[in-house]
Amino acid sequence: MTLFWHRRDLRFSDNAGLYHALKSGDPVLSVFIFDRHILDKLPTRDDARVTFIQRSVAELAETYLSFGSTLLTFYGEPEAIWRQLRDTYHPRAVYTNRDYEPYARRRDAAVEGLLAEKNIAFHTFKDHVIFESEEVQKQAGGPYTVFTPYMRSWRRLLDSRQVPSGEGSVSAFLAPYPTEDHTDGLHPVAQPKPVITLDAMGFSPSDLPIPSPAESRELLKGYDKIRDYPGTEGTTRWGPHLRHGTVSVRQMARTAFANNQTLLNELIWRDFYSNILQAFPRVAHESYRPEYDTIPWRNDEAEFERWCAGRTGVPIVDAGMRQLNATGFMHNRVRMIVASYLTKHLLIDWRWGEAYFADKLLDYELASNNGGWQWAAGSGVDAQPYFRIFNYESQQRKFDRDYQYVKRWVPEYGTDNYPSEPLVKHKFGRDRALRVYKEALLQARNG
Ligand SMILES: Cc1cc2nc3c(=O)[nH]c(=O)nc-3n(C[C@H](O)[C@H](O)[C@H](O)COP(=O)(O)OP(=O)(O)OC[C@H]3O[C@@H](n4cnc5c(N)ncnc54)[C@H](O)[C@@H]3O)c2cc1C
Repeated sequence: MTLFWHRRDLRFSDNAGLYHALKSGDPVLSVFIFDRHILDKLPTRDDARVTFIQRSVAELAETYLSFGSTLLTFYGEPEAIWRQLRDTYHPRAVYTNRDYEPYARRRDAAVEGLLAEKNIAFHTFKDHVIFESEEVQKQAGGPYTVFTPYMRSWRRLLDSRQVPSGEGSVSAFLAPYPTEDHTDGLHPVAQPKPVITLDAMGFSPSDLPIPSPAESRELLKGYDKIRDYPGTEGTTRWGPHLRHGTVSVRQMARTAFANNQTLLNELIWRDFYSNILQAFPRVAHESYRPEYDTIPWRNDEAEFERWCAGRTGVPIVDAGMRQLNATGFMHNRVRMIVASYLTKHLLIDWRWGEAYFADKLLDYELASNNGGWQWAAGSGVDAQPYFRIFNYESQQRKFDRDYQYVKRWVPEYGTDNYPSEPLVKHKFGRDRALRVYKEALLQARNG
């Protein structure tokens, strides 16, 4: 028997690892673990992402049932659960899709080790990205750290291979899991059991909706023209679905390719940041450019709290933070503006902003979030140079000229109830950031 382990791939069709497990010819039993190492660290018990994951797992379990098979769910620590699964089912092999985050790599290495003790193979597959770091390398070797040549190389690879066609529906291969033991008592029969509930894990349902992934041709075709305007609903909201694999990135890349090249480029940014994390796992904690870790951040806690709450007196920053707090989403243009304001005007360590986004974003993805923050701070690969400091006023004029976005999220804007002065004005903040960054970087480079 073979076990398949679902993680960030909460779907049945076009699932690389599941396809290969089923093709191996053994009966396949699938497993999902609600991981306490992750869940215990969440700041609230009504986290919308947990609600989404639990519902997606329950839907997946229904699909398995409709094929006469079953999805076993567990709540606990993956290593302990794998020890138990290993000793209960004695599988010939375990299949799964690769997860590139540092914690996931450590977890998988530990599971691989405990399976190896009993000579059980652990097979992993690419499923979360179109290309892995090893596949998109510079001609002279090594990973790209600049987006444009990476993107060209990525596109050349795509031309040569087409968007990997994916594995299509796997149902053709899905043999029902035996409800009678045909294996001389070797494998216990897995009875379908109800999926673990939120309640059983100490969580309660969130009422924050996670929109379905946009498919409208009109939106996809017009994406490049409206994507930068936060007052319109002009982006796809694919984020949480790509993150948890309720859609396949191959399918989304095919859709983007057919409709809008700018949208495909955004998916290439996603691969790019994932590839950076794969090649340089240290960026999860450190600046990619080490000299940026010598910047003497002011880290004023009261100012940070005002930024978090959307009370900086900069309308577009406040609108963005309030959108994030209320909905778990923030428009990409505004993510760049609030991140720039925090790291440049307020001189607060990018890791503080990154952690706040990680708690709040429904589409939180370590690689893209870290990439976005290090881009804004100037410390990352292919980042905004430190001396290019977003002017929030010109960003407002360019992207939300009639204050449509600001008025939606900051209704008191323009009344006496809204601060007449920003926490830090543009010119003062810009000059201070230039001075502080420049001194620190010069010293680090010379010293
Ligand atoms: C400071 C900062 C933090 C960010 N944190 C995250 C995060 O935690 N998770 C996340 O998925 N994206 C993050 N992004 C990138 C981007 O803002 C979001 O992907 C996008 O706003 C999500 O909305 P959408 O799904 O409607 O995207 P669309 O604009 O419709 O794009 C389609 C998909 O392409 C990918 N994508 C788009 N832009 C980027 C980008 N710049 N980098 C990487 N992938 C991209 C996403 O998977 C997205 O769902 C961050 C950007 C910044 C500046």
